[in-house]
Amino acid sequence: MNRQSTSTREPGGRPPNGPLRDEGEEARRTQLVDVTIDSLAEVGYVGTTLAEIARRAGVSPGLVAHYFGDKDGLLEAAFRRLARSLAVRVRARLALAHTPRGRVQAVIDTNLAPEEFDKRSGTAWLAFWGQVLHVAGLKRVQTAYQKRMLSNLRSDLRQMIPGAEARTLAAMIAAMIDGVWLRAALSEWQEADSESARALLTAFVEGRLKDLTVAAQGAPPARAAAVSSFRVINPATGATLAQITVDGATQVEAAVARAQAAQRKWGALTGAERGRILHKAARLLRERNDELAHLETLNTGKPIQETRAVDVLSGAECLEYYAGIAAGIAGEHLDLGPNAFGYTRREPLGVVAGIGAWNYPLQIACWKSAPALACGNAMIFKPAELTPLTAVQLEEIYLAAGVPPGVFQVVQGLADTGRLLTRHPLIRKISLTGEVGTGKAVMADAASSLKQVTLELGGKSPLIVFEDAKLDNAVAGALLGNFYSAGEVCSNGTRVFVHKSLRGAFIERLRARVEALKIGDPLDPATQVGALISQEHMEKVLGFIARGRAQGARLVTGGARVTSGQLAHGYFVAPTVFDGCHDDMDIVRQEIFGPVMSVLEFETEEEVVARANATEFGLSAAVFTNNLTRAHRVIAQLQAGTCWINHYNITPIELPFGGVKMSGLGRENGRAAIEHYTQLKSVYVALADIEAPY
Ligand code: NDP
Repeated sequence: MNRQSTSTREPGGRPPNGPLRDEGEEARRTQLVDVTIDSLAEVGYVGTTLAEIARRAGVSPGLVAHYFGDKDGLLEAAFRRLARSLAVRVRARLALAHTPRGRVQAVIDTNLAPEEFDKRSGTAWLAFWGQVLHVAGLKRVQTAYQKRMLSNLRSDLRQMIPGAEARTLAAMIAAMIDGVWLRAALSEWQEADSESARALLTAFVEGRLKDLTVAAQGAPPARAAAVSSFRVINPATGATLAQITVDGATQVEAAVARAQAAQRKWGALTGAERGRILHKAARLLRERNDELAHLETLNTGKPIQETRAVDVLSGAECLEYYAGIAAGIAGEHLDLGPNAFGYTRREPLGVVAGIGAWNYPLQIACWKSAPALACGNAMIFKPAELTPLTAVQLEEIYLAAGVPPGVFQVVQGLADTGRLLTRHPLIRKISLTGEVGTGKAVMADAASSLKQVTLELGGKSPLIVFEDAKLDNAVAGALLGNFYSAGEVCSNGTRVFVHKSLRGAFIERLRARVEALKIGDPLDPATQVGALISQEHMEKVLGFIARGRAQGARLVTGGARVTSGQLAHGYFVAPTVFDGCHDDMDIVRQEIFGPVMSVLEFETEEEVVARANATEFGLSAAVFTNNLTRAHRVIAQLQAGTCWINHYNITPIELPFGGVKMSGLGRENGRAAIEHYTQLKSVYVALADIEAPY
């Protein structure tokens, strides 16, 4: 029953190379077909008669009969129109895909694109499906494009897996496309939307391809049987978005082998050539901003107003930045006197791996892959198992932009899959974003093959408000530093130190602004606070809130789960502010990674610097003051890798980002990242004969 067409003819219409029909006639036919689609959407197949179409179009029934013969002819023409416009979109998407896998994805993405979930054309499609078995003309159209869809899928799949499996898988993909679409249509588009439908299909195809690849490579049955999968949910509703197959040792080995081969060619390109391709990828990311933001919101529960404005665009900016830098990656020339000179080369490391956390899935994948690829490395990226969807889209975008297959690959799985990367002897570097404990484990594993590591870990950062600060800016900074992404931001300034003289006014202004925050459906553009990532994480956050109360902190606002209306199925926690906090409380010492702010009072600069530094973490810090000298003096004393003066959580790509102490090693972004994705080679060049002493 699939909805992809190859035909360019309407019944009774002009054959592809036949004589031109009068333009007026063509316009009239087009109008009547449009009216027919509207009529099908509104009154269904039975109600769509020649008389009804004539009435709607303001013409006589005879004229409709003149153009199309009878009702079946008219409906066949309308069916062909819908099918043909879908086919045009499929062809356009196929032209952008450079790999067999990309072409398979193009078929899925186009057939399940948002416009296919549009109510008007969807209802018309449904009307046709109901009649295909009864109307010969409709059957012909349907058979022709079903064949074309299967043959498209088969020919691409055959390049990846054996022929028999390719045939079966093509049929399964076609059936699933239709099935998912049909269920969505029959549930009035409640059961699935375009994004979740595509995510489901993508996960299915990934899983099948991986299983079949393993089988084709002769993996023992025990190995195949050990492959398990995990469910991906929408934390705002609890609905399943996808089922993802875990990549095991076989898949990781295959990915490393592919990456090694691909890296040799990629690394041999000039920086300018790599930069051009990365620029194209950035453009594709920007073009797909809304669609990717939607998927990110579905998977993370973050408000669409954030993902549209930040997540994808920050990734695109990162690609643009390193695309620009790629041509300028260079060593240096060293004058060694008249008889010699030296130079250094900045060379790629080879195959590197990125392991991501779940809070900014696409952004993290971009922040790691852009500098890695700009420097000529190949990267294998494992997203967090809670948010595995958009990294796959990034892989697709890189391929479409012209990054050779194998240069950026996504593997899926949990910590075990991560360990396969961190322990792999041929992977030269790991860049991890995650918790401190994970960072330690990764570093220990990396030691076995002396891999380089970049670790972006947790934090419990101080935000200091001096008595001369502009109050509204300080409050705004505290809001940005605590409630963006429902507090699931590593650099958040969750320890808000406010000078004693300002604390009362600060709390009152803060309370008013926090209580005005809109918690709600993350897909609603007005929503400012979305869902937390999982039930387990929500319970952890609520546990901290309970401990804060028990340990004597004063609850200013929030403090509870939000379950009103449609939020009942999701993991929403009200933005929470505690006042009267002390340095030894759990909420002040430990990373909560949720919407919980602790306000602490201080009196002197010396005191607040000492208290701000009294933590194992050292990711970020901020100072709010109008005293320029004090601002720089205090910042210089704070033990943190990323600092702000009179702002919070702004992370331009030009500025290196990262932590000190237990918050991490190395830096992402800026020119600094280039040093972490290249290695230096020193070359001595003799310009004179050798004077050997023997
Ligand atoms: P985790 O440390 O739990 O996981 C991070 C990634 O590491 C996941 O992909 C995880 O896989 C994987 N992983 C877990 N154990 C291992 C292991 N032993 N070897 C290899 N890989 C492993 O972090 P979260 O995903 O829970 O993210 C939240 C944390 O990330 C917070 O502490 C936050 O502060 C920090 N973070 C730091 C940032 C920074 O830039 N400094 C930015 C964003 C977040 P899986 O989850 O699939 O099991």
